[in-house]
Amino acid sequence: MRLVDLLFPAEKFVERLLVWYGQSGRDLPWRNTRDPYRIWLSEIMLQQTTVAAVSNYYQRFLEHFPSVESLAAAPMTAVIDLWAGLGYYTRARNLHSAAKIVVDSYSGDFPADVEALQALPGIGRSTAGAILALAFDQQAPILDANVRRVLCRIGALQQPPRSTDAEKQLWHWSEQLTPLSKVHDYTQAIMDLGAMVCVPRQPLCEECPVLELCQAHDLGLEQQLPLKQVKKKLPNRHESALLINVAGRYLARRRMAEGFLGGLWEFPSVAFAEDDNSAEKAKFLLADFGLEGQLELLGSVRHTYSHFHLESSVYHVSVDCHGLVTEGENHWFSPEKLSNLALHGAHKKVLAKIYSKEK
Ligand code: SF4
Repeated sequence: MRLVDLLFPAEKFVERLLVWYGQSGRDLPWRNTRDPYRIWLSEIMLQQTTVAAVSNYYQRFLEHFPSVESLAAAPMTAVIDLWAGLGYYTRARNLHSAAKIVVDSYSGDFPADVEALQALPGIGRSTAGAILALAFDQQAPILDANVRRVLCRIGALQQPPRSTDAEKQLWHWSEQLTPLSKVHDYTQAIMDLGAMVCVPRQPLCEECPVLELCQAHDLGLEQQLPLKQVKKKLPNRHESALLINVAGRYLARRRMAEGFLGGLWEFPSVAFAEDDNSAEKAKFLLADFGLEGQLELLGSVRHTYSHFHLESSVYHVSVDCHGLVTEGENHWFSPEKLSNLALHGAHKKVLAKIYSKEK
C-alpha cells in the first residue's frame, strides 16, 4: 500500500499541541517520574482502563511492589490478587513475567531499546514507544487508543482503524508527527488531547488546539471517524456454575497458574455441550465433591472473552458439610470476601446472583 503524508508540517502540529499542553495538560500520579518501572506500570494499567479507575491501583501497587525487583520476587498469585477489580488479568501475569526477565536478563534496568522492550511479555510497539519517550526521551512514536483516535481524525482516515493497512498508515502519521526534541511532553500532550478534547463521542473541536489542521473537521466527519470496526462472530460455550452454600459461605477455587485465566478465582463449574442438560451436569459436579442437596437455578449470565462467549447457568445449593472440599485451592468465602477476590469476568457476574438471591 502507498502511505499518505499528513497535509501540514509536523512542526505546526507539535508547536500548537505543546502550547495547549503547557496550559491544560493533566497532572497525573505517574507523570512526575522518569522511572521506566513506574512508567511501564502506568502504561499497562491504563490499557483498557480509565485514569480514574487506575489512580488508586497504581499507588497501592507501588506500595506493595516499589521496584521491579520486588515485583519479580513476589509470587504471581500475590500480583493477581492485588490486581483484583482492574480486570484483563493477562496484564498482571505479563507484568510479573516481564519483571522477572528485566531482573534476570538486564540486572533490573529496563532496556532503552524498542526491540528489547517489545520482546518482554505484554509490551507492544506503542507501550515500548511510551517507555522510550517518557523515560528515556527517545524519539519513539506511540499509537494507544487515544492517539489512534486523534490520528484517524487529523488525517481523516476512512478505513476501519484496526485493519492492517490502517495500522501502517497510522504508525506512519505517528512517526511523522513525533518530534526529535521535547518528545516527553509531546507524548503526554497527544495522549491528553485524545483523553480530554478529541474524545470518542462528541469531540470538543471548538477547544482543540489543532482544529485548523484537522481534516476530519474540515470534512465534517469528526463524529463519524474513526470508522466502527466490524466485530467478528464468536462461538458460544456453555457451563453450569455452582454456588455451594454452607452457612452463608461459598466455595471458590483458584485456577491453575498457567493457561487461560491462570491464577484467577472461580466458582466450581463444568462445561457442557449446547444440547446437554445443565441441571444434570450441575448435579454430577456436586456429587464429585461428595455433596448432595437441592439445586436451585438462579438464572444464567453471559460474558464475552476475546475468543468466545460464555453462557453460565447458575445453580445455588445449600449443604451442611464442607469438610470434604477444603483441600488444595478450594476455599470458603463470605459474599463480602468474594467481592474483593480476583474472580474472572464471567464469575463476577455469577457472584451477583448471590446478591440478587439474598434480596
Ligand atoms: S478538531 Fe476535533 S476531531 Fe479534529 S483533532 Fe481536534 S477535537 Fe479531534
